[in-house]
Amino acid sequence: MSRSPSLPERPRLDLDPDMTPSERLAALRNHYSEVLRVNTKLQQQLNTAEQRQEKLTGRVDHLQRENETLKTSSLYVATAEELLDEGVVIKQHGNNQEVLTEVSPTLRETIDAGDRVAVNDSFAVKQVLEAETDARTQAMQVEQRPGTTYDDIGGLEEQIREVREAVEQPLVQTDQFDVVGIDPPAGVLLHGPPGTGKTMLAKAVASETDATFIKMAGSELVQKFIGEGARLVRDLFELASEHEPAIIFIDEIDAIASTRTESKTSGDAEVQRTMMQLLSEMDGFDDRGEIRIIAATNRFDMLDRAILRPGRFDRLIEVPEPDPTARERILEIHTREMSLDDVDLGELAADTDGFTGAELSSLTTEAGMFAIRDDRTAVRMKDFQSALAKVRDEDGSAGVPIAFA
Ligand code: ATP
Repeated sequence: MSRSPSLPERPRLDLDPDMTPSERLAALRNHYSEVLRVNTKLQQQLNTAEQRQEKLTGRVDHLQRENETLKTSSLYVATAEELLDEGVVIKQHGNNQEVLTEVSPTLRETIDAGDRVAVNDSFAVKQVLEAETDARTQAMQVEQRPGTTYDDIGGLEEQIREVREAVEQPLVQTDQFDVVGIDPPAGVLLHGPPGTGKTMLAKAVASETDATFIKMAGSELVQKFIGEGARLVRDLFELASEHEPAIIFIDEIDAIASTRTESKTSGDAEVQRTMMQLLSEMDGFDDRGEIRIIAATNRFDMLDRAILRPGRFDRLIEVPEPDPTARERILEIHTREMSLDDVDLGELAADTDGFTGAELSSLTTEAGMFAIRDDRTAVRMKDFQSALAKVRDEDGSAGVPIAFA
């Protein structure tokens, strides 16, 4: 908590009755300029206080909204089948049960037959949902052949080899697996600290195999509406089969595949349902053709063992923080397009212990900025040193916060 600043002392005017008129005038002038000075200072303090108030009001607003969201219980998704004088006939997703239910007059005006609606435990319609296609495109990122190649990834040769073996080969040499008589792994799980190149690996496989890259964050799959998370998983696989060959990349898989907790809130149950849907899609994978799944997590320790069973993510690939040789290679990659003037990347690699690939990439950008500020086109060693000093200043340690990236 910041304390309120102390107020400036109020100016006082002491006029001696024995003063001459010119002395009085001088004293009054003095007093006037003192009043002006204090007024400016108070005005500044008032501005600062107003800015702070605005910031705090924003914060309260945000917390109130968050609180509201936490307090609302999950709703079920249903389709409005028919609008009658007596109410609305809805059909629940999942069990297909049909119910005649009530709806408020204002909501009723906005509902058409066939709309998706959210209903509470007593089946009362609480909300009309957006069209399905919107949810699908909002939540997933689809890239036809992303530009990343294996050459853009530094220091992960072993990981690239493993990913190629588990994901690329089954896609391009399907027959070989048939001949040998083994099922290719359904999916691989990449685990390691943030910013170490997990997404890049997945994108590179997609681009090298001419496959569509479909990305979805686990946190996006954690939905408020019952049945929605599982439906999104189904949509994800459906979308992939429309775009075969495809690589599905599920980032932050820990959001849906964390060890089951004891608590039995509806939110946890919904996350469980989403995970069960994912497992069942993966188990039915043989018929899915040319779709491979790559998942990634920074929290390997939290994962539910069910997801790691054979036939699911049975290939676990650790993507670690880069060592000095890997850091040098990453720096080489990120400075490929830069004009360097006498820069020793080996020395920089030795100086950047604890930096991830993402942080090294930011470091090169920052060094470039120093050169631009100095009106130069070539980046020198001193620019890298200034960038490093800046980063260390900001962070107080070797690593750079990801926000810096
Ligand atoms: P997160 O867990 O936060 O999703 P991630 O491991 O998926 O992180 P990426 O998104 O692949 O990390 O990397 C972010 C950026 O960092 C990349 O776009 C790239 O510029 C740089 N980078 C990270 N690792 C490497 C690497 N090994 N080689 C080259 N660049 C890298």
